Amino acid sequence: MKTFLLASGNKHKAEEFKELFHGQLIVNASPGTLEVDETGKTFTENALLKAKAYFEVYKVPTLADDSGLILDAFPELLGVRSARFEPELKDYSQKCDRILDLYREKNPPTRNAYFVCVLCFYFSQEEYYFFEGRVHGTIGEKISGVDGFGYDPIFIPERKENDGATLAELPVWKNEFSHRAKASRTALAFFQQSKDLSV
Ligand code: IMP
Repeated sequence: MKTFLLASGNKHKAEEFKELFHGQLIVNASPGTLEVDETGKTFTENALLKAKAYFEVYKVPTLADDSGLILDAFPELLGVRSARFEPELKDYSQKCDRILDLYREKNPPTRNAYFVCVLCFYFSQEEYYFFEGRVHGTIGEKISGVDGFGYDPIFIPERKENDGATLAELPVWKNEFSHRAKASRTALAFFQQSKDLSV
């Protein structure tokens, strides 16, 4: 069974991965959190920076997730900087409110947005793999829901039910169809097919 150290201090991500790989691949929380400068311009570059940093300290295969929300109307606002948006705001409900205010003030022609997740599985300096997943949706008009984390309470994913529920109200759906779920499923299928790396 392949085991990876999660290159993150984000407890929510560790919990999501536990559910996502349902025992077919083990992801252990890291014993410590490293301060990795996310200087990359892309999710892929940042995922690699984190996976490599944890590998170099802990000397075991690592899994890094770099993810974020892209707002079609304000593409530069979040993206790879999603975790660093308005750092003076203490919690995500304030950050979500700030984004809702921006939509109210600017009234842009679209509220479309999408989450991206890039996973980097790092085995050595010569061998690492990337997997990407996305989920499309819109930014709601108010904060709604208590599950999940980050921008979940303002993000309404595209679903056939079309009932306006946010990701923070849909933990079961999120676990199956989120950006992280899609990237994880692709990764799992790859490792299961790959002879040398089979889990
Ligand atoms: P990272 O830990 O550097 O990858 O930062 C990702 C940031 O993007 C998080 O801190 C959240 O702000 C946001 N984000 C990523 N994935 C999710 C998600 O599933 N729900 C809500 N926010 C997310």
